[in-house]
Amino acid sequence: MSEEIEHIETLIIGSGPAGYSAAIYAARADLHPVVIQGLQPGGQLTTTTEVDNYPGYPNGVDGTKMMEDFKAQAERFETDTRWGMVTKVDFSKRPFKVEIDEKTNVIAETIIIATGASAKWLGIEDEKRLNGYGVSACATCDGFFYKGMDVVVVGAGDTAAEEATYLAKLCNKVTMLVRRDEMRASKAMQKRVFNTPNLEVLFNNDTKSINGEPGEIGVESVTSINNKTGEETITPAKGFFVAIGHTPNTSLFKGQLDMDENGYLIIEAGTSKTKIPGVFAAGDVADHVYRQAVTSAGTGCMAALDAERFLAAQE
Ligand code: NDP
Repeated sequence: MSEEIEHIETLIIGSGPAGYSAAIYAARADLHPVVIQGLQPGGQLTTTTEVDNYPGYPNGVDGTKMMEDFKAQAERFETDTRWGMVTKVDFSKRPFKVEIDEKTNVIAETIIIATGASAKWLGIEDEKRLNGYGVSACATCDGFFYKGMDVVVVGAGDTAAEEATYLAKLCNKVTMLVRRDEMRASKAMQKRVFNTPNLEVLFNNDTKSINGEPGEIGVESVTSINNKTGEETITPAKGFFVAIGHTPNTSLFKGQLDMDENGYLIIEAGTSKTKIPGVFAAGDVADHVYRQAVTSAGTGCMAALDAERFLAAQE
């Protein structure tokens, strides 16, 4: 007996602002969207605290709460949200074959990819060993735990500068480890860094080790090494924040969709169209420039409209 395969009209992969905005529009257009939530339901915003720049929330909103609101709004129009991870896709012909959790196969007439991006790590052993015991990739999520303490931030882009100045408001002292002799962050952000009295920047410094033990003690200090002079510095710190950029979650689509040198999906300018008709992309997965909740939501809306027009043209 052959297995009955579920046939989905609009499959949305990812549940951040892009995924749920696509779902709201697709559901209201009767495209019966199914959202596969992925490893981090609600996406990156669930790891932030207050969101103050999303229009419509004049007093700010907690990131997790905001994503619950996105989900509730999508479900109000009968979006079918499901736990699970998409583990394989086959875009070679339509309807597209999709495997979920390495066991369930479905077919989809149209697909919206909204898988977002994930924080990058340095790749040193101590990062894994002490993750959750002082090591974090999100200052706005975890900074609160280090109130009045000393912390280290690694990175030199706008994210690192933003996180370091944010932490400086909460912490006793912030030390930034910058691997070159200059920062990549915008001049305005650098100015804020240099004007913050309890923030020190160590240029030409690479992280050698994060010292401490998992458990109650956690991170105690960070050893960095000056890559010009070889001089080692031990900085006392209870928190170690990695802020060195993000990687788009696109490994699933390798070989099937076009990507730039950093793995971000390439879409037709001004649209959400990938090179495969019927496959659309929205949010951070195709945007390394803006990466905001509001821009993601906007492109999610575009993807649903593009999917609707695509399906209408097939009839
Ligand atoms: P970026 O890619 O801009 O910066 C990453 C930084 O991390 C670089 O300074 C890089 O150093 C450093 N880095 C990378 N790998 C390592 C490593 N192994 N060890 C030490 N340092 C490392 O990422 P961001 O997340 O900062 O920003 C991404 C985009 O988002 C940018 O376009 C940025 O402008 C934007 N953004 C804008 C904000 C705003 O306007 N408010 C806020 C946050 C981000 P190096 O310079 O040596 O390569």
